Parts: sequence; C-alpha cells; structure tokens
Amino acid sequence: TLRYALRKLAIVGLGKSGLSAARALSADGAKVLVWDDNPDARQKAAEAGYTVVEPNENSWSDVDRVIWSPGIPHTHPKAHPLAQLAARLGKPMVCDVDLLCDANTQPFYVGITGTNGKSTTTALITHILKSAGQQAEAAGNIGIPALDSPTLGMTGTYVLELSSYQLELVPSLRLDVAVWTNITPDHLDRHGGMDGYVTAKRRLFQNQKYPSHAVIGVDDDYSARICAELIRQGGSQVIPVSVTRAVENGVYVKDGMLIDATGRRPQEICDLREMKTLPGAHNWQNAALAYAASRCRGVSLPRILDALRSFPGLPHRQQLVAVIEDVAFINDSKATNADAASKALGCYTDVLWIAGGKAKEGGIASLAPLFPRIKHAFLIGESANDFAAVLKAANVPCTISGTLENAVEQADEMADHGDTVLLSPACASFDQFRSFEHRGEVFMDIVHELEEDDDGED
Ligand code: ADP
Repeated sequence: TLRYALRKLAIVGLGKSGLSAARALSADGAKVLVWDDNPDARQKAAEAGYTVVEPNENSWSDVDRVIWSPGIPHTHPKAHPLAQLAARLGKPMVCDVDLLCDANTQPFYVGITGTNGKSTTTALITHILKSAGQQAEAAGNIGIPALDSPTLGMTGTYVLELSSYQLELVPSLRLDVAVWTNITPDHLDRHGGMDGYVTAKRRLFQNQKYPSHAVIGVDDDYSARICAELIRQGGSQVIPVSVTRAVENGVYVKDGMLIDATGRRPQEICDLREMKTLPGAHNWQNAALAYAASRCRGVSLPRILDALRSFPGLPHRQQLVAVIEDVAFINDSKATNADAASKALGCYTDVLWIAGGKAKEGGIASLAPLFPRIKHAFLIGESANDFAAVLKAANVPCTISGTLENAVEQADEMADHGDTVLLSPACASFDQFRSFEHRGEVFMDIVHELEEDDDGED
C-alpha cells in the first residue's frame, strides 16, 4: 500500500501519470481531490468518479500534499498559479515517482537522467536485469506511470527514467544506482538557464551514500565536472563512463570495444559493433552505462553479453524494421530535429533518406557534413520544398515524394544491395500524422507490405 489511507491529497494535472496516481491513491483509501486546467480532462475525471474540486485556500487547507504533474511548470520564474498557492499554504509538492519511493523501502532503485539516451538506457538496463532472471520494472518518464498497478508493491528493482522536471518533485528519492547519461543545453527556458537545468538534474544523486553507486557519462564538460565533484565528495561509489577516451576506474569504449577498467587491470568485455540494435557511438554510451549499472546490481558478465545481443531496441529509434533483398529499412521516426537525425545518418553509408514534415528551426543545414552519406533523399510533408533547396545546393539528389507511401516505394525501387532506407525525418510529424509514433507505425506497415510482396515473389 501507499500508506495514505484516510489522508487528503490534491492532484494537479490529469494526464497519464496524474490519473494513475488518482487511481492508486483512491484504491489505497485516500481522499483525493483532482484538478486540471482543461475542462475536458476535468469532465472525464468526474465521469470516472473522482472528486473534482477547484483549488483555493479553503479547499486545499487540509490537504496533506499536492501531487503535481511534472509537465506543468512549477518553479520560478514560470510557476503556475497553483504552484504558488501550494507554496503559500506550505503544502509539499511531489510527483508520482516520489510516492512510489516513499512507500516502498523494499526494492532497489536504479534511476536514469540526462539530456539524451534516457529511454534507451532505461529500457536496456531493465532488459538486462530481466534477462538475468531478476525482477525488474521500468517506470517514470519512459511512459509507464510510477503508480500503475502492475509495478506497485514489487520487491525487485525499479528502473526509473527521470526527467529534470520529475527530479524537482522527488524529495524521497534515494537511488541505489544513479545513472547519468550526458548533459547539453535543453529545456533551458523552463529551468531559467543552464544552471537551473543542471541543478535540477543533479538531484539524481541526492541522499546517496555508500554502498550506492553513481554511473556517469563524462564525455561533455558539465558531466565531467559533476563526476569529479562527486568523486571528491565521496558520498557514493562513482563509475565514470566514456566513449571518447580511456577513464581510470571506469568503463569506456575504444573503437567499439567495451572495456571495464573498474578492476585491477582493464578487461575487454565485448565488441559493441556486433550489437545490431545499438548502432552508433551514442548507443555505445548507453550500452556502457547500462553495463556498469547492471554490474552494480550483480549481473554476471555472460548474462549481460547475452542481453546486449538480444536487446530488441526501442520502437521508432533507429529500429530495424526489415531487411528486404539485402536492403535494411530503419524507422527513426523519433528523430524530430536535425540533431537527432544526425545520430542516425552518422551510422550508415549509402542512405536512401526519407525526411521532412513540420520543420524545426534551423532546418537541415547543420546536417551538411553528413550529406555525402546520402545517395538520394525522398522528401515528405510541409518542409519538402525547403529541404529540396538545401540538398540541391549541396548536389544531393532528391525527389519530392509528398507522402510517406510514395517515399518508401520510390526508395525501395531505387535501392541496391547493401543500401539503407532510413526514415529519420528531422521534423515534427504533426502536418501529416498524429505523433512521431503514428508516423513510425505507418512506415512500418508500408515496409511490412513490401516484405510480404517480396516473399510472394520468391
Ligand atoms: P531520451 O529518452 O533522453 O529522449 P532516447 O533514448 O529516447 O533518449 O533517444 C532519443 C534519440 O536521442 C535517439 O534516437 C538518438 O538520436 C539520440 N540519442 C540516444 N542516445 C543518445 C546518447 N547517449 N547521446 C546522444 N544522443 C543520443
């Protein structure tokens, strides 16, 4: 149980995690007041039997705490008026992850944060622990609310993906293994600049003490500094991780080879270039972090190797959909900006690139160094003409395909053995699709149809 029976709690924000908190707390016997600024969300909650109450000094006077949706700004200078109300009334504000940590002292907690690679690292660690026969569940920012019933009350390991927003709302968090991927300027707006963002993220290490572990990617300056500070403070066992250089007492990757230097002498673990679902140096960083974290949770080397090989990958992130007549079809629909697309383009040569959609600021100009990898581009969506102009100026052959269906068919026709058809749009999806997931699913459907046609011809 959550130990909130008969206590009164307010929930602000009725998205997936807010509703899951309302469900879990009600089942626990708590008195739950819910609120969302959106009238439709309020109506749905009322229809589901929850008590919708407009927050004010009176209605919140006797609530125990406020369960806040991390997506709603709550810190200076952009704090939502209800966050100000909570502060005025002295009500603690927490998110659903905090209730989980507060209620369960039995299980182990692994937490992952960073600017990029959070979901992949979270999924990979969970996969390794499960493959090794341990009980483990992923939760948090990965899209599985912390209080969803299947995960509640477990005694194994929770693997929590934590955004910077969630980290500001988890005073009870005390991780057995804290995993930090990297940090680059992102979400600066809401956190009031880089310092605010780093401060929020650093809460990952709060309350840690021996024998807990901190596993830290050190390939950017901010992260390297934080790692050095943590080593100096000596609160936990720190394991630096790098894909750019050898690190003492850490884990690193050299030419694709994963090397564990935490023991007396560096040991070669495996060649990450063999791991088909983890392509590219950015994924080697994720794999090296997951390796180190799994070692901290006592998983044996052979078990980790098996799991790295059998990792199915995450959907829509450089996901191998099919290989048809030696042509690989890759779904990287999650690449909604040029930076993300650059990671995928950097992994392949002879690329038949499907790109375009609702353009982001800056377009694809920053991808110019990768243009030589593109054999032909097939452009879809609103940005097609603009992208075509950039590509033509750089002598990259391209076709305005318009729709994703056309693009896949045209790419398939042009493809030679060994080529890669890559959907990595460098754009948002909303001009033609409901979401990047929807775009990826449509792509996969089209590719599977091609595959069936191909089987038919054999
Ligand atoms: P997050 O959950 O932090 O958004 P994901 O694991 O979902 O990260 O990966 C999203 C995209 O970010 C990937 O498609 C890839 O382009 C890029 N990426 C993944 N891992 C890393 C990494 N370690 N460093 C830099 N970029 C990465």
